[in-house]
Amino acid sequence: MVDWLYIDFNSYFASCEQQDNPKLRGKPIAVVPMMADSTSCLAASYEAKAFGVRTGTKVGEAKKMCPGLVLVPSRHATYTRYHHRAIEVIDSCLPIHRVCSIDEMCCELTGSHKRLEVAQEQSRKIKQTLAEKLGVSLTVSIGLGPNMLLAKMAADMQKPNGVTWIEKEELPQKLFSLRPRDIPGIGPKMEWRLAQQGITTMEQLLSLNERQMRGLWKSIVGARYFRLLKGESFRPVAETEQKSISHEHVLPPQERDYTSAGIILQKLLVKAAQRLRRGQWMTKRMQVSVRFINGTKWKFEISFHETQDTSLMISHLIKSYKNCPRQARPIKVGVALFDFSSESAHQLSFFESEKKNSFFKIIDQINDKYGKDTVHLASLHEHISSARTHIAFSRIPELDELDDN
Ligand SMILES: [Mg+2]
Repeated sequence: MVDWLYIDFNSYFASCEQQDNPKLRGKPIAVVPMMADSTSCLAASYEAKAFGVRTGTKVGEAKKMCPGLVLVPSRHATYTRYHHRAIEVIDSCLPIHRVCSIDEMCCELTGSHKRLEVAQEQSRKIKQTLAEKLGVSLTVSIGLGPNMLLAKMAADMQKPNGVTWIEKEELPQKLFSLRPRDIPGIGPKMEWRLAQQGITTMEQLLSLNERQMRGLWKSIVGARYFRLLKGESFRPVAETEQKSISHEHVLPPQERDYTSAGIILQKLLVKAAQRLRRGQWMTKRMQVSVRFINGTKWKFEISFHETQDTSLMISHLIKSYKNCPRQARPIKVGVALFDFSSESAHQLSFFESEKKNSFFKIIDQINDKYGKDTVHLASLHEHISSARTHIAFSRIPELDELDDN
């Protein structure tokens, strides 16, 4: 049994370039911020990695290590475009629980999908669908595990293009071939601190008890690692630190008017609210933005009593959207939710009923089971077929998260 499926794109920036330009496929390439020997590589293709070129390698050195290395200036808009498309494609196979960075996404498995053979089959389906709909150069490593941390570690175990799993019953032995620094979140500093305590192997680390782990980290983080590495199924600490959920959409030419933009905003809000409930959060603040063809922007922000009720949020949206200028043609719209609190700590307000909240949860479950938009708000009925999901990453990924090593 496995509970989480973690997707990590291989050499993401370099793969996007190889996808966009077939002449670069099969060649050692490095994506660079500018054409200068003094700068560092942002990403290297697997062909370049074979020569030892890595994220962070100085370009001058990389050229010496790998004769024939092709340098490609970075194009972040392209990587972001592939990112949005990748989310759509993956989400059509399996609902994404969380977008972790520009090239990593995580899905929670439910029901029969938890069976290892089914999860493996699902992983192959995701890879095949990505190859067909996103591009053959954009390969992924998929990891399956009892929690997000172990699923991510499993994904790291086989690169490129792997499907790897860690089942709870295989713990701790399955991790013994790794080093402590292979655990996400353990960097050189923590590795040094562990070494000071005589802990240099995974086997040593995993033989510690919860109190010892807590002592090593000097915080509750150690206790969390202890539980996650044992295969407990609770969500990693970062989960509660989610700061926002945002969706945006570039309007196709026929939808660049006030009414259509308003409908798209409602659809984006429906998606955002689904993710909110899936994360078992409540929100207190919403931001809506409309960008116009003439370059101007209209934005509003509204705060309310904590909620996860789609219809309540939509009524706020409709009311505020009345103030949006109607003359200029909109080109891009976005919705973001902020100020989360956990649903378990929530107290019902005067404005909502518990019944309604569980009603929307049931709709989410039906849509998860039978496909997106099986059940949806009547006001959006005519517009559902053109629904597209765009999940913007809510923070700039760290450089080391972009590395594939
Ligand atoms: Mg990656």
